[in-house]
Amino acid sequence: MNDYLIKSIINDGMFRAYAVRSTNLVQEAQQRHDSWSAATAALGRSLTATLLLSSSVLKGDEKLTVKINGGGPTGTIVVDGNAKGTVKGYLQHSHVSLPLKEYHHIDVGQAVGNNGVMAVTKDMGLGDPFTGQVGLVSGEIGDDFTYYLAQSEQIPSAVGVSVFVNPDETVGVAGGFLIQVMPDATDDAIDRLQKRLKEIPLVSEMLRNGKTPEEILNDIFNDDEVKILDRMDVKFECDCSKERFAKSLIALPTSDIEEMITEDHGAEAVCRFCGNKYEFSEEDLREIINEK
Ligand SMILES: [Zn+2]
Repeated sequence: MNDYLIKSIINDGMFRAYAVRSTNLVQEAQQRHDSWSAATAALGRSLTATLLLSSSVLKGDEKLTVKINGGGPTGTIVVDGNAKGTVKGYLQHSHVSLPLKEYHHIDVGQAVGNNGVMAVTKDMGLGDPFTGQVGLVSGEIGDDFTYYLAQSEQIPSAVGVSVFVNPDETVGVAGGFLIQVMPDATDDAIDRLQKRLKEIPLVSEMLRNGKTPEEILNDIFNDDEVKILDRMDVKFECDCSKERFAKSLIALPTSDIEEMITEDHGAEAVCRFCGNKYEFSEEDLREIINEK
């Protein structure tokens, strides 16, 4: 099954709702970063929530970067997203696993920590990017995105994201939803929604039962009318290249590059987002010095 995201409106515009299945892209992130269960769940939830946030607040070529630092063992988590359904991300420490909580749930709050901030930098292509920052609520990611939307974007929302990690560290399922309350929403409809959000199982459980993103939204809004507006494929994709790393080498002092030639006989650059490696030979490095 492919990963995809759907956009919908409920009851002619009382709510906007987004749902995504991100299993394959979180699996790709797990492989690229060789992450262990708690780190996989933390990064997977962050990738999934960033996809949902990006598709709900960005347009065209706009992009955003989410940085989460809660002081927990995973260290800082960084995820880039855009309006086209691609994300990339990494965390500082990918080898993190913790004892499971009740019901075999991964303790993401403990892995991420809640003593810190979540910052979202939006690049609208108009010069200075804008950064909104909020304190972390729980480090469980879904709550933190919900709080960010309410505080920084003034959009009352509900965000649910979850990842199921298999005993062999591969990703079983991953996905989530984001619901925005619009000004037309009646108190009655809001009450119904809040009640349903308490009743429904975790998204990972619904996905493991074979539910599609459409079925997840229909389950949440069971008495309300869900109209699907759009469906798009989502994927993990990094835009790094050897040329891009060469540009950052050009910025270094010439003496540093000469040292790489005489002492290391070359250089290797590793992309933090995707783990791809780029080799620079002595000849490549001499060319970089000439270009300076
Ligand atoms: Zn990369």
